[in-house]
Amino acid sequence: MKYIGAHVSADGGVANTPKAAFEIGAKAFALFTKNQKRWVSKPLTEKDCKLFKEEMIKYNFLPEFVLPHDSYLINLGSPKEDGLLKSREAFIDELTRCHQLGLKMLNFHPGSHLKEVDETTCLNTIAESINIALSKVPDVMAVIENTAGQGSNLGYKFEHLAYIIERIEDKSRVGICLDTCHTFTAGYDLATEDGYKKTFSDFDNIVGAEYLKAIHLNDSKKELASKVDRHDSIGKGLIGTDFFYRFMNDSRFDNMPIILETPEDSLWKEEISYLYSLIQDK
Ligand SMILES: [Zn+2]
Ligand SMILES: [Zn+2]
Repeated sequence: MKYIGAHVSADGGVANTPKAAFEIGAKAFALFTKNQKRWVSKPLTEKDCKLFKEEMIKYNFLPEFVLPHDSYLINLGSPKEDGLLKSREAFIDELTRCHQLGLKMLNFHPGSHLKEVDETTCLNTIAESINIALSKVPDVMAVIENTAGQGSNLGYKFEHLAYIIERIEDKSRVGICLDTCHTFTAGYDLATEDGYKKTFSDFDNIVGAEYLKAIHLNDSKKELASKVDRHDSIGKGLIGTDFFYRFMNDSRFDNMPIILETPEDSLWKEEISYLYSLIQDK
């Protein structure tokens, strides 16, 4: 079964997210557990956490299908000492928040070398950051998202993801979220049938299908291999409807959160029901 949802707003508090997801017909959702543009936010109170858990039950969501995203400020591969320290602290806080909310995963972008160190050095720093954080907070899985490779962001090649995973001490606590827009603009051709087959068999060979824990399902405004990250609404971009048809009928993506980060939130409800309508033999 496919668990599709969207990255819903946590305005007014995290406890508002299950209802927001329910209202668009979602079976999964993503959220920020704090203001994503600030380093420090108020800690979650016991009341916030209790209310969130009650709303999860009320609207029938399991923690396995909720995928929190960390702050955009965090760079776990930062070559700058203070930036790295701040990022590691903030990342531990993000994991702690997930744990407090009873959630199982935290989704994040690996990190950027800022053109100050080489890729390998940066990937080593990222792996070390993840190991440190996982040793401080129990249970929550670190779910690394692949990137488009814009600027100096790493994680645009499957080899980068495999390299990081290889260096994680507890492999049961690391996973991957593939963002379809990022995958396409990083150079993996999801738009054609052959490209689709090759992309996911390459992922399996290089990273391992068992590490795939979530999907960000987005179309792309930018071309294949453009390395530019601009999401588009489902079926309106350059990845196109054939891809979404293949994806929805591919059981490799069952039983994991599939999150829309498409630009028009007013379309989410429609996009979700359109995606479900693509499934054959319901
Ligand atoms: Zn994404
Ligand atoms: Zn993106």
